[in-house]
Amino acid sequence: MDSPLLKIDDKWVPLYRIVWVADVPHFCGEPDCMHEGEYEIRLDVDDSIWTNGEGRDEAVQGLTKWCNGPSPGEDEKQW
Ligand SMILES: [Zn+2]
Repeated sequence: MDSPLLKIDDKWVPLYRIVWVADVPHFCGEPDCMHEGEYEIRLDVDDSIWTNGEGRDEAVQGLTKWCNGPSPGEDEKQW
């Protein structure tokens, strides 16, 4: 995945907008909470998106790869 965009739930999100990704499912005890058991992905626009464990893992993988940058081997292929 070379694009800095990641599909989370039904939204394409630029990786650089992500501030943090929850390690554990959300629990706040509010009776009307809509996100119980979901993983929160915090965005830098004072908003969050919510996903399941699989989506959370994809987000973390995408961020990890993006933070590490392209490997030297991939660079050589392109040039
Ligand atoms: Zn809640």
